Amino acid sequence: MEQSEREKVRRLNCKGEPIYRGHNEVFYPLPQMQATPRPLYPWESETNLPRITKDFFRCKGNPFNPPFVDTSDPEHPTPISDCTKHGLPVLRGKETVYPVLIDLLNFVQKKTGKRVIITCGHRCPVHNTYADPSKENRVSKHQIGAEVDFYVQGMEERPQEIVGILMQYFQESPLYKKDKEAGEFRRLRTTELTTEPWVNKEIMIKLYQKQEGRDGDNRHPHPYISIQVQYDRDGKERVNYNWAKAHQGYPKS
Ligand SMILES: [Zn+2]
Repeated sequence: MEQSEREKVRRLNCKGEPIYRGHNEVFYPLPQMQATPRPLYPWESETNLPRITKDFFRCKGNPFNPPFVDTSDPEHPTPISDCTKHGLPVLRGKETVYPVLIDLLNFVQKKTGKRVIITCGHRCPVHNTYADPSKENRVSKHQIGAEVDFYVQGMEERPQEIVGILMQYFQESPLYKKDKEAGEFRRLRTTELTTEPWVNKEIMIKLYQKQEGRDGDNRHPHPYISIQVQYDRDGKERVNYNWAKAHQGYPKS
């Protein structure tokens, strides 16, 4: 038979029947759809503020800052210039600062919902001298990435609250679950500041009032907080200023 003939016969003989299916009849179960929140990008944080990263700590030295003459020793007045831009200290083979500082500042942003302003993170030795040529400052831990000065925008006049939040970090962070000692702060006797600093095993918190601790990097009218790393939780060793670490431990450009 011809192809078309066969088709005609097939059509005459075939019988249509609608297919019915119950509303709950399925061949295989379909998983229930669920909205999944998008995971945060590394630079985002829960507070809608940019997450603090190591880059916030780069040396703020600028070659356009005018040179000046240090006359603290009248016999030998010294001209001092600022550094040029460069990187961060190298810790365990990586350019960074001590991670506890980054964690603490992000914790403050998360708890307050306000922006942390870092006025001074890492300082290379040249910028360290430019910002504050005093003798005491020569061993500043800013040079080895173990110190940070900052204030919180919108809470400039409430630094004590920020100190409280910094302490809270050691209670809440899972890193210190087993380490009760880390959460214990004591006060340090000093004549240098009107507020006695707080210390625990790992850090020292200093509160500088409006008239205190003013240097080239802290030319603002607010009180500010300085955190110093005393003990390195990852390397499990004390953190001390060290000439070689300060002068050779960062890439220069
Ligand atoms: Zn510098």
